[in-house]
Amino acid sequence: MTIDGPAGAGKSTVACALAERVGFRYLDTGAMYRAVTLAVLSGAGEAPEAAASGAWRSYLDDPRLRSREVAEAVSAVARQPGVREAMRAAQRAFLEQGDAVAEGRDIGDVVWPDAELKIWLDAAPAVRATRRGGEDALERDRRDAAQTRVPADAVLVDTTSLTPAQVVDVLVALVEERR
Ligand code: C5P
Repeated sequence: MTIDGPAGAGKSTVACALAERVGFRYLDTGAMYRAVTLAVLSGAGEAPEAAASGAWRSYLDDPRLRSREVAEAVSAVARQPGVREAMRAAQRAFLEQGDAVAEGRDIGDVVWPDAELKIWLDAAPAVRATRRGGEDALERDRRDAAQTRVPADAVLVDTTSLTPAQVVDVLVALVEERR
């Protein structure tokens, strides 16, 4: 299953907890693009495409993955066609191995259009900004617009007035309906 949506909709918290509840593996595709970005920022002038061909893997657990520096640079790196191609191939290789909750921006529409359940998670802009570092999150969404796709067959879940635990309960119910 896939969970896509903008920054601050609550994807990471919810996707990780949901995967645990239903016994699926968890794929955080944002972390992959962040790792490529960190490889670019840390490397000796390495081009994004080169970083996306392998070096990114050693940055996946780096404490700087969630830094402001990476958040500011990630959209421009993630927009490179060569980077997207390499990341999508790695994501599909993971998803081919069986049940998973994959979270991102383009997973249900582009990466895994055959997913059995597609969620679009959203929340009011003011709430998203509060959850994710103020206006920066909204600005990042604007920069991510080109790589963000709402699947036509997604179930829309508005998390504005829900706690993460409530959102997980809603999603578990949707998974159970399909089992
Ligand atoms: O979800 P997260 O905030 O960690 O994503 C970091 C960045 O990775 C996004 O701002 C976006 O630029 C990029 N991204 C993407 N496609 C995805 C997931 C993330 O372009 N499927």
